[in-house]
Amino acid sequence: MNQQLGVENARRLDQEDGLSRYKAEFHIKEGSIYMDGNSLGLLSKRAEQSLLQLLESWKEHAIDGWMKGEHPWFNLSERVGKQMEPLVGGKDGEVIATGSTTVNLHQLTASFYSPSGSRTKILADELNFPSDLYALQSQIRLKGLKPEEHLKLVKSRDGRFLDEEDIVDAMTDEVALIVLPAVLYRSGKILDMERLTKEAHNRGIPIGFDLCHSIGTIPHKLHDWGTDFAFWCTYKYLNGGPGATGGLFIHEKHFKKQPGLGGWFGSEKDKQFDMDISPTYAQDAGAYQIGTPNVFSLAPLIGSLELFNDVGIERLRTKSLKLTAYMMDLIQNELEDYGFTIGNPKDESRGGHIFLEHPEAARICKALKAAGVIPDFRKPNGIRLAPAALYNSFEDVWETVQRLKTIMEHEHYKLFTNEREVIA
Ligand SMILES: *Cc1c(COP(=O)(O)O)cnc(C)c1O
Repeated sequence: MNQQLGVENARRLDQEDGLSRYKAEFHIKEGSIYMDGNSLGLLSKRAEQSLLQLLESWKEHAIDGWMKGEHPWFNLSERVGKQMEPLVGGKDGEVIATGSTTVNLHQLTASFYSPSGSRTKILADELNFPSDLYALQSQIRLKGLKPEEHLKLVKSRDGRFLDEEDIVDAMTDEVALIVLPAVLYRSGKILDMERLTKEAHNRGIPIGFDLCHSIGTIPHKLHDWGTDFAFWCTYKYLNGGPGATGGLFIHEKHFKKQPGLGGWFGSEKDKQFDMDISPTYAQDAGAYQIGTPNVFSLAPLIGSLELFNDVGIERLRTKSLKLTAYMMDLIQNELEDYGFTIGNPKDESRGGHIFLEHPEAARICKALKAAGVIPDFRKPNGIRLAPAALYNSFEDVWETVQRLKTIMEHEHYKLFTNEREVIA
């Protein structure tokens, strides 16, 4: 057997990996290999600790917890936002922890979508996550317009990727707003956010990105690129826990703008309790908050983001690229006889996961789960495998491919039906 493909090689790569010690910071089920960090990241001990600390502060301080304790709740959203700044390349005040992906998209569309004259359309793409498209459709309807006419979707040429040329060509003078994903959730393709921002601005169109599949796995420079806004969830690569509070970025140049959806938590902090009838909004991303923060959904992020900031996103990206390159290598060498297609970009325009296509994908995923590897199925034929740089090793990648090979060799997947579960 090729030396490079053996487990000894995987172990050597782990020894050379400066981030290998972070695996011990996570709760990982014995014997199981978790490859689903792009859907729901694992619990770290630091996140567990910070959640318990905040429960304790409720017990100890009751109402005074808003201003007392190690992590007072009143400005927690601002402080967790600050912890996320380096991950998106935000400057002071440009990032706030609030809402969720879909809610934040509603807020940002309500703030940035002002159809007027012949500029009435929102430009998005047909490969985006459905929730984003549902939100855009309803925002168009709220303006008294028809989504069928005013939501313009860039088509994919091959069902996997989007061509940046096609996106730029669609930036016509009827477009009032552009919303695109940073990384496509199926194929893992990264869009060139810097270039798309520039092209949009050359045409006078505001542009925002959904960072759900990019935050915590690739670096961003949203401030320097001049991107108008962005939004994301924190339960995928950021390991904030199920339903953890999301985040949003507003470029400093928009700090004086009024948020589309107002609420008292968007107030300047020292004015909030004046209880005035007219709001005084914060002069930064904080203005885009609506109501009282979900403190216990923010709490795990304190610990989790500490880990990200200890390591730094550049080092995480370097390891992530090595893990996915190694996985593709193994797949090409060990699984060539079994009809898989690698559906993610093979070059460095790939995000943090591998997208394997196979007609029997649904039941292969079930067989993988039965064999202790947690993948993620995407209808109709996609298996997503995300080796997370913080808690997956090269040996995990090696072991995943070995178990997959056994499943294919012995046709273990035939013991399962080729249909998705309710949650896939
Ligand atoms: C995960 C994900 C969502 C989920 O939205 P929620 O409001 O957090 O439920 C939305 N959009 C994209 C692109 C995603 O990857």
